[in-house]
Amino acid sequence: MSKRDYYEVLGVSKGATQDEIKKAYRKLSKKYHPDINKESGAEEKFIEVKEAYEVLSDEQKRAHYDQFGHTDPNQGYGGFGGGGDFGGFGGFEDIFSTFFGGGGGGRRRDPNAPRQGADLQYTMTLKFEDAVFGKETEIEIPREENCETCNGTGAKKGTEPQTCSHCHGSGQLNTEQNTPFGRIVNRRVCHYCNGTGKEIKHKCSTCGGTGRVKKRRKIAVKIPAGIDDGQQLRVNGQGEPGINGGPSGDLYVVFHIQPHEFFERDGDDVYCEVPITFAQAALGDELEVPTLHGKVKLKVPAGTQTSTKFRLRGKGIPNVRGRGTGDQHIIVKVITPTKLTEKQKQLLQEFAETSGSNDKEDDSFFGKMKRAFKGE
Ligand SMILES: [Zn+2]
Ligand SMILES: [Zn+2]
Repeated sequence: MSKRDYYEVLGVSKGATQDEIKKAYRKLSKKYHPDINKESGAEEKFIEVKEAYEVLSDEQKRAHYDQFGHTDPNQGYGGFGGGGDFGGFGGFEDIFSTFFGGGGGGRRRDPNAPRQGADLQYTMTLKFEDAVFGKETEIEIPREENCETCNGTGAKKGTEPQTCSHCHGSGQLNTEQNTPFGRIVNRRVCHYCNGTGKEIKHKCSTCGGTGRVKKRRKIAVKIPAGIDDGQQLRVNGQGEPGINGGPSGDLYVVFHIQPHEFFERDGDDVYCEVPITFAQAALGDELEVPTLHGKVKLKVPAGTQTSTKFRLRGKGIPNVRGRGTGDQHIIVKVITPTKLTEKQKQLLQEFAETSGSNDKEDDSFFGKMKRAFKGE
């Protein structure tokens, strides 16, 4: 929103005298005063006129404005008599309160403008399988809702909130202070109406005049298949209700996924370690391995080394955005036996003796290394 020139707001020339400025202000502030003028937009004009007058009636601030215009965000408020040195800070605060919807901190905010309700966040812990296949569930969240007795106005049935007589509906009050550096004008949230700009003479007994009640609300949530740890789901319009007829906020469900005993997840792929014996690895075998979609057969060829990876296409996790399904990777681990019978020991001994004679033809890294150490 671009700000109008202060001289234009008051309808005076750039060279206007203080008397002319004062006269213009008196005329306009009376014309747009919220107690007198009930037309829509009058209140904004009133605030605009007041702000223009506050700057142009102060010679120091006026000189600063003439030089810098509206570019100094600290213009007119706080600061030391309009000195530019502290100018940047007010601007930062302003942006901060706008982004975070801070309670009435922004000095140019119209308290009667529609505003979106607050977003809510809910953390849901899911079982590994529920994240893989999705689930329909219900969550219960505490949230503020509009009071049904008074339709959110906060006023007793048959009555209506009035414009606050202290701040004239602007939701803010000025305090002035004289210091050795000049006059400081501070604009604060009106404490009579808490910045709402409205005064409730007869409060609604259900909500005590706030217009809001805290309720525990059950909300159906459809968890999409393939959701991953840390991802969130937005449930539109299930946050807190808007202010002055603004839209409701949203509800964000953040997922925390429990680890699985056997499966490890990486994106849409799943990893699983399967132990095999030395004999299975050496001779080859057909294994039955677990997947998220049930058991499947896996052929392990003769001479399989430990840590060999096998891919089972499409046995992973469905992509949360519907782009296919990931794979499952089986990593075989050859287990060295720790307890051997006498017979087994004897057989392995024989195996060791016979395998030694093959060394000369063994081209593998280990074969070459063995020969190097024996000096062959
Ligand atoms: Zn109420
Ligand atoms: Zn007020």
